[in-house]
Amino acid sequence: MPNNISHTSINNSVLAALPPEERQRLLAHCEQVVLNDGDVLCESGRHMRHIYFIESGLVSFLTPVGGHSSVEVGLVGNEGVAGLALFLGVSISPVRMLVQAAGTALRIEATLFHHELKTSPVLQRELNQYLYAFMAQVAQTAACNRHHLLGARLARRLLMTLDRLHSNEFHLTQEFLAHMLGVRRVGVTGAAGQLQEKKLISYRRGNITILDRKGLERASCRCYRDVNNIRERMLSDTHNHSALDP
Ligand SMILES: [Zn+2]
Repeated sequence: MPNNISHTSINNSVLAALPPEERQRLLAHCEQVVLNDGDVLCESGRHMRHIYFIESGLVSFLTPVGGHSSVEVGLVGNEGVAGLALFLGVSISPVRMLVQAAGTALRIEATLFHHELKTSPVLQRELNQYLYAFMAQVAQTAACNRHHLLGARLARRLLMTLDRLHSNEFHLTQEFLAHMLGVRRVGVTGAAGQLQEKKLISYRRGNITILDRKGLERASCRCYRDVNNIRERMLSDTHNHSALDP
């Protein structure tokens, strides 16, 4: 499928790591799509038709709980993809994929993706590494939701958003944050109020401005730093292994 995607301005980390020839081949099958706030890329339990390489914006992965509510178990920005199950050869999504901040993605149809995957060891390696980092994020989030106080979890969630949107200002409604953190709205109001009193953030009608990033890191639980450290150790480990390859 011919397209006019610029090969010089790749904003997705997985695609950016590919050798130019492999990237070009993959991009020839990709279509750029706009991600609107609130779009659902796939419902939990439904077949995925595409894998999305996120260029900008934020996609949240939600797991249904009890049939009428759901809790966020992970999120992705331009460091990764939405639709990892396809990489594992499964077309049914285990999670609901909800666009939480508008942006764009390059998407590729499942069959074409599998074909490219077979012929590109670098794409396989990059997705393996992303999968590892994503698993670490999901595992840490499960532990975090169970053990850490709401204010610290909110601080962590804001830092994760900040890192992926590359902006100090973004929009997250209280209702959405409550949904993400698995608490009532009143809980978010209190926790956001405390971060605001400490002058770490400004929060008005869902518009959040990060005023003091270092302070927010101190207010966050260790989970934020731990997941980043796991990813850095993984990258250093795989680099050492590839250096030993014949
Ligand atoms: Zn935590």
